[in-house]
Amino acid sequence: MTAESEYEMPRGRTGFGTLSLYEEQPERCSADLSDNTNLWGMPPAAERALKSFSGAGARGYPSAYTPALKEVLASRFGVSPSMIVTGCGSDDVLDSAIRAFGNSGSRLAYSEPTFSMIPVLARVNGLIPVSARFDNNWDITVDELLSSDPEIIYICSPNNPTGTSARIERIERVARSFRGLVIVDEAYGEYAASSLISLAGDYSNVLVTRTMSKAFGMAGLRLGYGIGNPALVREVEKSRGPYKVSTIAESAGIAALTSDLPWVGRIVEETLVNRARLVGLLHSLGYAPLRSDANFILLPVQDASTVAAKLLSQGVGVRPFTGLPGIGDAIRVTIGPWKLMQTFLDELERSVV
Ligand SMILES: *Cc1c(COP(=O)(O)O)cnc(C)c1O
Repeated sequence: MTAESEYEMPRGRTGFGTLSLYEEQPERCSADLSDNTNLWGMPPAAERALKSFSGAGARGYPSAYTPALKEVLASRFGVSPSMIVTGCGSDDVLDSAIRAFGNSGSRLAYSEPTFSMIPVLARVNGLIPVSARFDNNWDITVDELLSSDPEIIYICSPNNPTGTSARIERIERVARSFRGLVIVDEAYGEYAASSLISLAGDYSNVLVTRTMSKAFGMAGLRLGYGIGNPALVREVEKSRGPYKVSTIAESAGIAALTSDLPWVGRIVEETLVNRARLVGLLHSLGYAPLRSDANFILLPVQDASTVAAKLLSQGVGVRPFTGLPGIGDAIRVTIGPWKLMQTFLDELERSVV
């Protein structure tokens, strides 16, 4: 065996040398509050669809662009199916959109801190990620986002990892004062009071992305979608390519969107109740979590890596962040059934120094 470092790289474009692979949670833990997935499980009709899936259904190719799933999504949101693009997780939709509209060497602007995949997706598509600051209220700063003359602007609302939302008026101001693509990532849109989806069709340059990975509890199936003007969506779909959504993911997604909306609605309500309760208790213990519109909270702590490691050693997984602009160190905690929240609170008291 030759050591990896002794191999010579093939020639050609890389520039990926300084990128690292995505870091997975190192250990399984009994209370995994680290990735914002639905801790109540997966929706029942989707689960039944998985169980009734036969091997024969996997023999042939899936549909190239998931027309049946688009129909169901279109009726849910009251838009035309031609306004929808699906993908292998919303990561795939984001990646395809950036590739479709970003010229090599151009800039992608986003507010920092945000979803960690964004600078990565910019770079693997040859774009330069440029960060802007949030304002004091954790809203986007429109002028700063525009100031680097970007080709693409990414807005995450509610934002991961802060949990805070951008005001719709500000997002619309970006869309109006900018010719390039505006991506509005609503991965946590089910938990938020407002959404840009109903306005997406009014703009020729806005793509709203959503996922079945978070509120819908289907992260393992990899299913996401984007909503925008038909012409824009078509370009994203060309860039994405055919057959990105598996037959089994499409059928579970259709089942969930057809029959599980009440289930998801109840879970979302319980999430909001538990979030308010947890935030209240944290305040009374002297913590200052950021206000959240999502199914997680960001909790500033001293030395987040140590706190996270201590929690993990007690079976509680959280996501640590160090040196976040405007915050410092913090841990991100997924909201789940109250029993898990109580476990987190108990262990937090023992883990914070
Ligand atoms: C989790 C997450 C996604 C990715 O979701 P997938 O559909 O699983 O790829 C996208 N954006 C944000 C902000 C997220 O937190």
